[in-house]
Amino acid sequence: MNVSQLAKSIAESPTLKLNEEARLLKEKGEAVIHLGAGEPKNKAPISAILSAASKLNTGDIKYTPTDGIPSLKKAIIKYTEENYDRVVAPENVIVSSGAKQSVYNILYSLINPQDEVIILAPYWVSYPEMVKMVYGVPVIVTPEDGGFYPRMEDILKAVSSYTRAIIVNSPNNPSGVMYSDEFIGELVEYCEKKGIYIIMDDIYHKLVFDGKKAPSAYTHTTKDIESTCVIVVNGVSKLYGMTGFRIGWAIANRKLVQIMTNVQSQITSCTAVLLQAAAEGALTGLQSAVESLRLTLENNRNVMVQELRAFTGVKTTKPDGTYYCLPDFSAYMKDSIALCELLLKKALVVTVPGKEFGMEGHLRLSYAGSIKDITEGVNRIRWALDPTSPKELYIGERKLVRDWL
Ligand code: PMP
Repeated sequence: MNVSQLAKSIAESPTLKLNEEARLLKEKGEAVIHLGAGEPKNKAPISAILSAASKLNTGDIKYTPTDGIPSLKKAIIKYTEENYDRVVAPENVIVSSGAKQSVYNILYSLINPQDEVIILAPYWVSYPEMVKMVYGVPVIVTPEDGGFYPRMEDILKAVSSYTRAIIVNSPNNPSGVMYSDEFIGELVEYCEKKGIYIIMDDIYHKLVFDGKKAPSAYTHTTKDIESTCVIVVNGVSKLYGMTGFRIGWAIANRKLVQIMTNVQSQITSCTAVLLQAAAEGALTGLQSAVESLRLTLENNRNVMVQELRAFTGVKTTKPDGTYYCLPDFSAYMKDSIALCELLLKKALVVTVPGKEFGMEGHLRLSYAGSIKDITEGVNRIRWALDPTSPKELYIGERKLVRDWL
């Protein structure tokens, strides 16, 4: 079949692919442990459900303005004021079908063919593919020391006359680390001077641990919202564990928001009104759901790190936030795709290969599930890899014997 060269070159989302594999195995009755998931097990906040239900009950389910219903935009403006200390106008806000569409829409609206976008490794799997989808060139900057913190000097080396934007995701998927306020400050100052857009993917910015607070790029610019190069992306998926509602948004200058609105109007017309109502309910309701999710994640992170640190040969950087950590398994296997396949086949544990995030030799492990999943999942991984661990493993009634080490 003849399909476009560009479409052919776009990789399938590895995380969504693994979700599907895990679902199929579970359907077959296999006791799979999913340490690949990018979503928690919580229920949506009641205020979100009630708000969507009340809209549904009206039976009046129609198109909305392309950039979002005014009452949701009002809630996003309040959120921006409370969390970023920035007052923005409705014309600075556009609601999309998930932060994923927000990022794509921004790139579509900014990038000319051959323009370069700097992406900091380890990075969220979708960024390079999205840049390619708008005919741009992803330029990956990898920390030389094999760590997770980008250095300004490496970014400066990657900048060329084609550099149009840089994407920053902190706290970071997949590593869980948060970049320092000082680094964000230096980057913002540089980008403002050079006219390079800095796309802050802040989707995890409130899911931060140990009493820390995510730095805001806005605090490092003296420019107003109409002239700053800072663009902020956010959404309800991670904040409230409302991944299935598919609501995200971007805050940018009004010219860019207008262009993004034109683009979106030709693609999806608007985001579904019921889901916008749910997001509005979540944002305007009691915020205790966020703190409760954050606390659960922090506790889970502690258990995950403790389990991994007891695993000889595995190097783990303690995450500052998010749902994930990215331990280094290269002492056991350098090829993370092969390792991930081995763990799924032999130990029925879903992990995500670090290679997909630009960090070969690592695995992304999610602690968004239950404590039982975390301890049992890491225990199964240890059984599969560590020759000093007991040869036998019980999964329910089933006895597995390791015969490959
Ligand atoms: N950015 C990052 C860094 C993410 O991890 C994700 C989800 N995995 C998204 C954006 C997309 O979020 P949404 O569900 O709002 O599309």
